[in-house]
Amino acid sequence: MKLYENSSIKNIKEVHGFRFSKSLGQNFLTDKNIVDKIVDGAGIGPEDTVIEIGPGMGVITWGAASRARKVIAIELDSSLIPILGETLARFDNVQIINQDVLKTDINELTDGEEAGHVKIIGNLPYYITTPIIMKLLEDKVKAESLTIMTQKEVADRIGAGPGTKSYGALSIAVQFYCQVEKVTDVSRNSFIPAPNVDSTVLKLKFRQQPAAAVRNEPLFFKCVRAGFGQRRKTLSNSMQTLQGVSKDLIRDSLDAAGIDPARRAETLSIEEFAKFSDEVDKRL
Ligand code: SAM
Repeated sequence: MKLYENSSIKNIKEVHGFRFSKSLGQNFLTDKNIVDKIVDGAGIGPEDTVIEIGPGMGVITWGAASRARKVIAIELDSSLIPILGETLARFDNVQIINQDVLKTDINELTDGEEAGHVKIIGNLPYYITTPIIMKLLEDKVKAESLTIMTQKEVADRIGAGPGTKSYGALSIAVQFYCQVEKVTDVSRNSFIPAPNVDSTVLKLKFRQQPAAAVRNEPLFFKCVRAGFGQRRKTLSNSMQTLQGVSKDLIRDSLDAAGIDPARRAETLSIEEFAKFSDEVDKRL
């Protein structure tokens, strides 16, 4: 069976009485070329354990299971579980977990595995793309990389640099922990049903060390959120939403970090945010 063909998906739908759920972000991939690019991009090999988020009918799972030692796929929609049982019947290295990925302890699933051999992949459900990425980063998942498909606009935000419209808290959160590499753009016509937007596959490769050394990581992210929470305001104003931090302390910290208080968050590099949050931390 060629899972990536429209006719196979329609046939499975009919046999199982399956209906696409818009609210679960179900847009299934129908392009073998893109499946190959995801699996190649992730660099999956015979020693790897792959965690897949949202396998759907199993088109990417199939590609991953053909190469990996083991694939653990997390799917929330219980009506897809019997379908996956059939489409992936030939593989004995696939485990399907019927669960919400946002409530899943991924480090528990990969307990005892070497981080270098854990690869996370997925054509992410669009309605929770950012929460999924933030959860993986905040949980500090032990993995080599995340190879994920997102809406093109979200991928642009993830990869954006200072001084651009797309640059924001998501760009900094991802780039702080990961190197961002674009694998490929994907047309909306590569899915059934076709979404209203195009997509991009990114590979986020975890860094050995964060992009900047910071004294206090939670404070660093509080500064980033404060800055972008009011991105039109100057730093001396936007940083006033930081709790327990006075106007004077903000001014002194910006001064010590060599940052003009009239600048806005969207112009600051990760290193500059790090310098500023270190100066705030020293004065608290
Ligand atoms: N991987 C399949 C493909 O590329 O054809 C399906 C991708 S589809 C964009 C997203 C998948 O994520 C759907 O199968 C959907 O049911 C599943 N999903 C949605 N929310 C989820 C959640 N919170 N946890 C796990 N899976 C979820």
